[in-house]
Amino acid sequence: MPDRKVVIIGSGPAGLTAALYTARANLAPLLVEGLEAGGQLMLTTMVENWPGFRDGIMGPDLMTEMRAQAERFGSEIMQGNVTSVDLQHRPFTISFAGGSTVTTDSLIIATGASARWLDIGSDRRLSGHGVSTCATCDGYFFKGKPIAVVGGGDSAMEEAIYLTRFATKVSVIHRRDTLRASKIMQDKAMANPKIEFIWDSEVAEVKDGGKGEVVGIVVRNLKTGHLSEVPLDGVFIAIGHTPNTSLFVGQIELDANGYIRTHSGSKTSVPGVFAAGDVQDHIYRQAITAAGSGCMAALDAERYIENMHDAVASTGAAAHAS
Ligand code: NAP
Repeated sequence: MPDRKVVIIGSGPAGLTAALYTARANLAPLLVEGLEAGGQLMLTTMVENWPGFRDGIMGPDLMTEMRAQAERFGSEIMQGNVTSVDLQHRPFTISFAGGSTVTTDSLIIATGASARWLDIGSDRRLSGHGVSTCATCDGYFFKGKPIAVVGGGDSAMEEAIYLTRFATKVSVIHRRDTLRASKIMQDKAMANPKIEFIWDSEVAEVKDGGKGEVVGIVVRNLKTGHLSEVPLDGVFIAIGHTPNTSLFVGQIELDANGYIRTHSGSKTSVPGVFAAGDVQDHIYRQAITAAGSGCMAALDAERYIENMHDAVASTGAAAHAS
């Protein structure tokens, strides 16, 4: 007998909604939350597009409510660092740092996606000391200071516009001379007098001047190779996200960008394994769509378990009759 009927990995809106629904279906789910507990909404301030809150709700408050609601119906939530999963044998096995394991009939993967870094070394080293991937979390610290945003997509435009509330000037550094962002976001950013664009350029280095705090960046023009120094106090990196699927490589089907491929709702290439939220969605990427897909995964898992038990019962009855 497996330890669990359902295990959910991930505690953002997708994972917690899956927990709520599977708990209410009497499946006593175990939800494993990792280091980024609560997902990306924990890194935001006011969420104004979650239906039901006409004045908005703070991201962390929304996640606290969702967690409490999932627990109220019997979800067990544990903190754990999953080191590997075995989806080749049934029941599936989930292994944790420290050596413990849990076996389960079905698995819902809701591990989300994480912000990308530039991988120039100095950006990560100065993370939290002037380099950030979350404008809404850290923008306030740059009141009255010049900063940069890296990227040319909707996230970069959104962050740049938001940061003009605090910063004296926002330099958007983009590696091409046209933006990927939607027209409406481009127009808004370009109309903002505090935003300037540095085209065809990349950040070669984030400088701290030996102070452990950002004092400027070195910008490389990709057409001419020319290097120039821009003094500033903060750098916001907004170059997209990477799905958190490293645990599943080689075991379930992923797309070319590493997102889990789902079909017929939340089903993955392995029967009994379901995926929900940003880990399988690079298009909508909204808290509400993640929650919706968490609900779908829960209903799909419930049906899968029901069918599994029906099959076992009919095999047992057939054996008894013969
Ligand atoms: P994105 O659309 O993938 O854009 C990433 C941007 O970063 C691109 O401009 C890309 O340059 C640049 N980039 C990628 N890797 C880079 C690197 N190593 N160095 C320098 N630049 C790099 O990601 P996103 O902006 O996070 O948006 C993701 C999805 O969410 C999109 O579908 C977007 O529409 C949506 N979204 C919507 C809103 C909104 O509607 N309010 C807000 C945020 C996000 P290239 O253009 O040269 O590839």
